[in-house]
This record gives sequence, structure tokens and C-alpha cells, in this order.
Amino acid sequence: MKTLTMKFGGTSVGSPEAISGVVNIVGEELARGSHVIVVVSAMSGVTDQLITSVREAAAGNRWAYLSCSQKLRDRHNEVIHLLTVPGKNRTDVLNEVELLLSQHAELCSAVNILGEATARISDAIVAFGERLSSRIVAAAMRHARINARAFDAGQFLVTDDRFGNATPNWEETERRIRENLLPVLEQGIVPVITGFIGATPDGQFTTLGRGGSDYSGAIFAAYSDSEELIIWTDVDGVMTTDPRIDRRARVLPSISYTEVGELAFYGAKVLHPKTVQPILNRGIPMRVRNTFNPSHPGTLISQVAEPTDTVIKAVTSVRNVSLVTVSGKGMIGVPGIAGRTFLATAKAGANILMISQASSEQSFCFVVLNDVVNEAKQYIEEELAKEIARRDVDSIDLMTKVSVVTVVGAGMRGTPGVAGRVFTTLGNNNVNVIAIAQGASECSISFVVDELHLERTVLSLHDLALEAVPVA
Ligand code: ADP
Ligand code: ASP
Ligand code: MG
Repeated sequence: MKTLTMKFGGTSVGSPEAISGVVNIVGEELARGSHVIVVVSAMSGVTDQLITSVREAAAGNRWAYLSCSQKLRDRHNEVIHLLTVPGKNRTDVLNEVELLLSQHAELCSAVNILGEATARISDAIVAFGERLSSRIVAAAMRHARINARAFDAGQFLVTDDRFGNATPNWEETERRIRENLLPVLEQGIVPVITGFIGATPDGQFTTLGRGGSDYSGAIFAAYSDSEELIIWTDVDGVMTTDPRIDRRARVLPSISYTEVGELAFYGAKVLHPKTVQPILNRGIPMRVRNTFNPSHPGTLISQVAEPTDTVIKAVTSVRNVSLVTVSGKGMIGVPGIAGRTFLATAKAGANILMISQASSEQSFCFVVLNDVVNEAKQYIEEELAKEIARRDVDSIDLMTKVSVVTVVGAGMRGTPGVAGRVFTTLGNNNVNVIAIAQGASECSISFVVDELHLERTVLSLHDLALEAVPVA
């Protein structure tokens, strides 16, 4: 019997109508004779509300976090009342939700008393979103005579203790999924598992980073040997660009793991950047589909990069980034400066989005998110203090009002003229390119532009993804 893993995002479980859609989708797949593993996000907006509740609790605003708890209670209870009928199923789920929300208020009150939130307690609080939604989705399924049961992912998905951005312990997670989850499927039960969260070996809740439910879906798909991973969301598939930036965006019928990895890393919110990792080597295909338009086939993501007759396949962008430039005449021929700079940046907890160096070795630059850039600069200045004092390194400069735009398409590899078309387009649109980098996979080119030029840059490059113009 084949197994499918289906992950439903925040909007897909964000209203009674949406959850009814989820129940139908899963019901139809069960009727076809498959086993289905369901992974759910929190209802849309709930993770943000929980993060606010932690902040308010730490700031001593008791009223604010209690009011958040009440809003969550009202919203979740209303959905339960609309999706179930009076009886044991409804009473049980109302009690479960009440228990979780009372724990939420207790944890917030602990934060309130301490006056600060540790990363550990923040994760325990943020985890309530998925814990609540999974209970409700499972109850709605039971109401539709599907034998469903909610599970906290931490029973299976074991991680390290980097709260807020935890990394799975692959061996232990695989063992637990095979030994403890697969028998659940064999019993004919549909597990409804919390996305986004895991647990340390001693059972502390951890989270996988914002948007991490996609990643959870891929982990469960990988170790259950699923035939396919389906990411159900609120758009018809992976599109040529963010539809909120350009309404002309089109759904790509297929795209490769590598291409989608680049898109996600460079800002396409539709998938968490780590999603492809667990399924890539296993060759498990993934589909992105629309819960609100289930007859659409969506985007198939697999090993093969289908050639398209457009210059590029898709365009993405990342806002709120800074360009850090390290420069100095004394850097020429001095080995190790770049390495030490990147190490210092990592110590500051900053991920590097792109790196670029001109051949002269007099300077190199890289991009990090704005919220960590000042700390990164401080760490780099400490690391290079001697070189700065000797004037081998002149300065560490920051440009904070910039964005990264990335064009993606496997057709770029070995096709002369793509970069030319891209840069001519930018030139024709008066976009000044501040820095450029080509991804090692050779299926993407990223550049830094002034944030004021972001929209113009995306729109003009998106034209290239829409036009079927052969590369000369
Ligand atoms: P979910 O809650 O289902 O995980 P997200 O909000 O995280 O959904 O991601 C889906 C959203 O990603 C879409 O509504 C769309 O606005 C946005 N998005 C950004 N770039 C793209 C893209 N290239 N293709 C499709 N959607 C995109
Ligand atoms: N609920 C989490 C978030 O909003 C995870 C997810 O939806 O993927 O970030
Ligand atoms: Mg998402």
C-alpha cells in the first residue's frame, strides 16, 4: 500500500471552510487506498500571535498575553463548533484545546515573573500553534469518519537544542518514525502531526525556524518512504515570481530540486529553504498544490530540470538585507582574511546569502539580513582588529538599504548569453547593479540592487521568465 505525506499550511487550516477542504482531500486519497500522513501548520497568523504573547509577557504586559490567549481560545473554539457536532469527539477536543491554552497562559506568566524569555521557553510557547491546529484537524477528520489521531512531532522528530532553529538528529528521527509512526499507519490511523516543531531527546519542545512545517513534511515523507510529498498551500504551485509583486506570475508545471532550492533560499516564501534536503537523495517527488483549488495539478518538483524556452524560469527577491564590504590595499595576497571574516560573521549568528569578490583582492562583499548586520560588523571588527590597526584593512562598510534579486533556471548552465540578456534588461530599466554572484549550481544568478529599484528589477526580469524568447 502506498504512503503519501501531505503538509497543509497556515491558510489551508486557517478557517472552518479550509479545514473542510483538507478533510475532503485526505478522504479522497484514503478512498484511493493510500496511507496518508498529515502534517499541519498552525492556523494562519497564530504563530505571530504567540510570538507577540511571549514578547508582551517578558515586557510585563499581563493583560496583553491573557488577551492573546483569549483570542486564540475564541478562534479555535469557534472552528470546533462549526466542524463537529455535540458529543464525545467535540467535548474531547474542546478539553484538549482548553488544557493547551491554560498551559500557554501559565508559561507566559512564568515569563512575566522572570521578566525575560529564554529561547527554550519561547519555543515551548510558539509550539502551541501547531499543537492546537493538529487537534482540531484530527477532530474534524473523525467527524467525517476518518480514523485520525493528533500527534506532537517531538515523539518522532528529535533535534538538537538550538531552540528557534533546531537541527534534526537524523538517525534517531528515522528510527522513531520507522518504529513508532509506521505501525500507526498499519493500524489504519491517519496521523495528524504538528509541523514546525520537534523535541530534544529529553522532550523539550524545539522549532525548526519560521515556515518550517514544509521541512517537517519532507522529513516525515523521507522516513516513511512516501511515494510523494504534497505541500498544500494557498496558491496553485511554484510560480514564476511572487504573485504579490507581479500579478502576471504563472504556475511552473515542473521544476527541479536544485532550482526550487535556490528559489526558496532567495526568498520565495512558498517553500522553506531546507524542504528539499531530506527527500533529495531518496528521489521522492514533491508537489506544491492549492488546497482551495484541488483540481489544479500544481507544480511537480523532482530531479529533472525540464528545459523551458524562456531565458530564465523564475525571479525572487529578499528585502531587509545589508551588503557588508571589507576592503583595504593591504589585503592583497594576505591569505585568511575572507575566511576569518566569514567565521566572525557566523559567530554573530548571521547567515550569508551571497558573496562576491572582484579579482583585485582589494575588497570582497557579502550579504546578510539587516537584523544581524550590526552584530556581524562588530564581530568582524574584533576579529580583524590588528589588520585594521595596521591599515591593511581600511574599513568594513555597510549598505543597509539594498535587496537581493535572484533569477533561476537550469537552462543557464552552459547557455551563453543568459547573463547578457539579464544585464541588458537591467540596463534598459536603469537598474544599477551593486554586486553580482552566480550560484555554484550554475542555475541562478543573484545581484544586489538599491531597495528603491527592487520592484522595477523584479518586474523587468520577470518579463524574461514570461516571454518565450529563445536564447541566441
Ligand atoms: P503556507 O502557509 O501554506 O506555508 P506560505 O504563506 O508560507 O503558505 O507560502 C505561500 C505564499 O508564498 C503564497 O501565498 C505566495 O504569496 C508566496 N510566494 C512567494 N513567492 C512565490 C512563488 N515564487 N511561487 C508561489 N508563491 C510564492
Ligand atoms: N507556523 C509556523 C510559522 O508560521 C511554521 C509554518 O507555518 O510553516 O512560521
Ligand atoms: Mg509556509
